Amino acid sequence: MQFDYKKSGLTILLIFSMVISSTAQTGFHAERAFDDLQAQCDLGPRNPNSPGANAAIQFFQSILEPLADTLHLQNFQLDDPYSSGKLNLTNIVARFQPQKSQRIILCAHWDTRPRAEYDPSHPERAMIGANDGASGVAILLEIARQLKANPVNPGIDIILFDGEDYGAPRDLQYYLLGSRYYVEHPYPPMAQQVILLDMVGDAELTIKVDPVSYRAAPRLVEEIWTLAGDIGYDQFQFVAGASMYDDHVPFIEQGIQAIDIIDFEYPGPDNAYWHTHQDTPDKCSAESLEAVGNTVLSWLYQQ
Ligand SMILES: [Zn+2]
Repeated sequence: MQFDYKKSGLTILLIFSMVISSTAQTGFHAERAFDDLQAQCDLGPRNPNSPGANAAIQFFQSILEPLADTLHLQNFQLDDPYSSGKLNLTNIVARFQPQKSQRIILCAHWDTRPRAEYDPSHPERAMIGANDGASGVAILLEIARQLKANPVNPGIDIILFDGEDYGAPRDLQYYLLGSRYYVEHPYPPMAQQVILLDMVGDAELTIKVDPVSYRAAPRLVEEIWTLAGDIGYDQFQFVAGASMYDDHVPFIEQGIQAIDIIDFEYPGPDNAYWHTHQDTPDKCSAESLEAVGNTVLSWLYQQ
């Protein structure tokens, strides 16, 4: 994910109405989700064309194949902007009730950066990406287990995007590779709402509102943040955070309601662990995965 410099500094007036509390107790298993975060990191860096990326695809397939109604490995190739070679990319698309026209996409990027440009010691080395990569995926794998055990009303597409975090700083055209490809090659029917999870594992979790998301889908943002508060998760704060250029943007450009749930203060406002080798599992927590996973799953059961 890349900070959107053009839109930074925007503040928005956030007004929300309290809704009647309905805090379904879901079966979301936070320790199991954290194990999936750790397991991804144990595979090493998972940037395009790396051994870790191939191992990660096998890992996702082994978990999702028995859970989803249909599982697609959406393979595609692009010219590598930073070498003469090709990038081999794979979106993982796990569909639940694929015949339903009312649909929701839950998504996260599974790739990690081929570099850690803000690391003081080894900026040229590929990252592990515990928070920036593994955290959102870990929550979605656990949600997939819950959807198998207790289906929800709408059709759900869980999509793990490749190539989100490939670009060099400010090379915005080389970010969001998987989500851009997906909106051009979707499995129909296309969802009406999209919830993106990115950097949701920080042990010091504070999730402010991305103004890009709020402009695109204010009611969806209000529903999620209000529900989190009703359950008692004070990690969700209904104030404007930084504007995000992330995998929700290609959907918004298609006129689809899409929001990004992201904590862009890792661990604090200086974002010191972001795109460094400090982004490791010990900086993340099961409690944070639970706050996000249980909120999103509770919202799904209300649909
Ligand atoms: Zn990133």
